Amino acid sequence: MSNRVDPNLVSDLEAFGLKDAHKCYNCGNCTAICPLATPENPFPRKMVRYIQLGQKEKILRSPEPWLCYYCGDCSTHCPRGADPGETMMVTRRYLTSLYDWTGFSRKFYTSERFEIMAISVVALLVGMALLIFNTGNPNWEEAAINSLWPAEKIEIADLVMASVLSFLLLSNVFRCFRFIMGDLSFKIPLRLYASEFKELILHTITQKRFSKCSDGMQWFVHLMIMTGYASIFLLVVVFIRWFQRDLPEYPLSHPIRLLGYYATFAIMYGTTYAIIGRIKKKKPVYKNSHSTDWMFLILLQLTTLTGIFIHFARLLNWPATTYFLYVVHLMIAVPMLVLEVPFAKWAHLAYRPVVIYLLRVREKFEQEKPPPAVDTAGVEREGTSQGST
Ligand code: SF4
Ligand code: SF4
Repeated sequence: MSNRVDPNLVSDLEAFGLKDAHKCYNCGNCTAICPLATPENPFPRKMVRYIQLGQKEKILRSPEPWLCYYCGDCSTHCPRGADPGETMMVTRRYLTSLYDWTGFSRKFYTSERFEIMAISVVALLVGMALLIFNTGNPNWEEAAINSLWPAEKIEIADLVMASVLSFLLLSNVFRCFRFIMGDLSFKIPLRLYASEFKELILHTITQKRFSKCSDGMQWFVHLMIMTGYASIFLLVVVFIRWFQRDLPEYPLSHPIRLLGYYATFAIMYGTTYAIIGRIKKKKPVYKNSHSTDWMFLILLQLTTLTGIFIHFARLLNWPATTYFLYVVHLMIAVPMLVLEVPFAKWAHLAYRPVVIYLLRVREKFEQEKPPPAVDTAGVEREGTSQGST
């Protein structure tokens, strides 16, 4: 691994939101207090130190930023007000931009103007596509979205979009894998990757490491937003034929309707809590807000709110209002998906469990390796299983 010092690292990270890392005098309090740090993966002090020393290469290969769930405990106990929790968050943004081979993520994170422009352009394109590609035969008697934009056609657009986003996200995840595993990437037998795959699923669904943090509320809010989003993603991408339905509405106990209500409640609860937290700034985790933090919450909440309005407009049988809201809804939802999933906040959702899984695979591999032989003079002979001579 290269130890080359990057003299521009701090100024580069400032563009991603770095503020107080220079105040750190390396006491180690934060690592001692962090409920998730281990002797093998000590953080956040190590990351703060790497930043101060300009060790870009080491940061790029570090799994630690993804092991932090940003509970804020370390920032509360830092005697210098160096805000190590926020530094970990900044490092995650930075890593997301380094994993992204398109360079889009970097622009998105470092330029508010670019962020707003990208969202506006995608929103306009979606709006124009909906106005151009429709049946041209709306039902004005009753609110019937399918009369203008049939679910089968939306499903095709969904699948195309999901394929492009999956390709972008997975190619970035692959780069993350290469940086974290380094030379070991293809030396570890596939059977170990397969046998530990359950860890990936478990951490993706439950975020269970987060529950070790002292502020259980943060874990709960995180879980609500994540599960709410995953539910709505399932409904609009996988089950769109059943989800985009005209009147009569499903009975209240129907699984599609229940999942829709759960997603709505979970996202509204989680985002409202986070927005109020960021306005009040009482918790360290909400003290500093990057523009992408706000954009993420606003887009998610507006997507959900317009979804609620559509639901009521349909139930009230207001055709024109329903169609108008449907266009507005997609003009918000699609940019959020297209820009946040591969390039920003939603990508964190993939990197974190992937890195935890990779560390587990690496740990298993190390455990299975035969111990290095030691000769009578106590000299280790690596790469041989022969006994001492
Ligand atoms: S960030 Fe704060 S608590 Fe952590 S090592 Fe630096 S001064 Fe100490
Ligand atoms: S924010 Fe919480 S999980 Fe992250 S480094 Fe600080 S104490 Fe550890």
